[in-house]
Amino acid sequence: MTEMTIAVSGLSKRYGRTPAVDALSFTVRPGRVTGFVGPNGAGKSTTMRMMMGLDAPDAGTALIGGLPYRELPDPLRVVGALLDAEAVHPGRRARAHLLWQARYNGLPVRRVDEVLEQVGLDPAARRRAGGFSLGMRQRLGIAGALLGDPQVLILDEPVNGLDPEGIRWIRGLLRSLAAEGRTVLVSSHLMGELQDTADHLIVIGRGRLLADTEVDELLAAASDDRVELRTAHRAEAMAVLAAEGGTVSVLGPDALTVTGLGAERIAAELASHAVPFAHLAPHRASLEEAYLDLTREAADYRAHDPAAAPAAAASGSGSGSGSGSDSAEEKGR
Ligand code: ADP
Repeated sequence: MTEMTIAVSGLSKRYGRTPAVDALSFTVRPGRVTGFVGPNGAGKSTTMRMMMGLDAPDAGTALIGGLPYRELPDPLRVVGALLDAEAVHPGRRARAHLLWQARYNGLPVRRVDEVLEQVGLDPAARRRAGGFSLGMRQRLGIAGALLGDPQVLILDEPVNGLDPEGIRWIRGLLRSLAAEGRTVLVSSHLMGELQDTADHLIVIGRGRLLADTEVDELLAAASDDRVELRTAHRAEAMAVLAAEGGTVSVLGPDALTVTGLGAERIAAELASHAVPFAHLAPHRASLEEAYLDLTREAADYRAHDPAAAPAAAASGSGSGSGSGSDSAEEKGR
């Protein structure tokens, strides 16, 4: 059997003069959750639409299990997608919507009730989608994606509109789908959203690849060798550690971060100078911090690349404001 990877190669797409996706290449592998992140307007949806054959690339390919979506013999059994949770007729009842999808695609009707239960929508199965909250529409969209019991799942911002219980639920669902050996690609404009969900990350900004990395590696790189220290004797600690060659910065009234020495050495130096401390631990960066580092590097790089000078601001803000007009609010947050 072909391994169900998603292989994106040299993929490009422009709308008018703006490149939405710019020579993007990456591979999404089975058995893990791959996060696809970048600020709003970075090109995630466009890339996912091209994977699903809904947009034609100007150049490059997006293959699923070695084939373009349109050439897959039984596409719904291979790949399920949630691209637009609003794409349900408001007058249609949840179950009827899925029944129609199942019949149209030759899928067994029993799958309808199975997926309704799987996404927790069985109590609302006979309600009209028009009265659903955004979170319920997301669940209905995910139910549709799961209908063909596909090997590959492509979900565009599935966490949008979910309440905290819903967010926990979707984390569990994505992790279990990956644990079953499926290929799971999930996008988000918020890096932190994928902190406990993704194993691997594809980070893009302005249509270009910024990073293709294991989450753990990215976090380790962003954490450097920073150590957090709590002590009521801040000034003495700073003097001792700076004299030993550490770079010390103040984090709070009794908190410091130290780089360049490592936790063991810091403990030994403080002890030998009789400076009491309460807490000493390596700093673990959040994905949000790691992302800020990444986008800062990308912005610096572009600032030094005259050919790309206009893009210098790119995703440098890092907080999700890639394109000014495409704010988080407009995406339904
Ligand atoms: P993301 O999903 O990361 O928010 P998109 O793929 O939606 O990004 O958008 C990438 C860029 O392409 C943005 O600048 C967006 O405005 C533009 N874009 C997306 N779809 C269209 C379209 N149908 N027509 C014109 N521009 C588009």
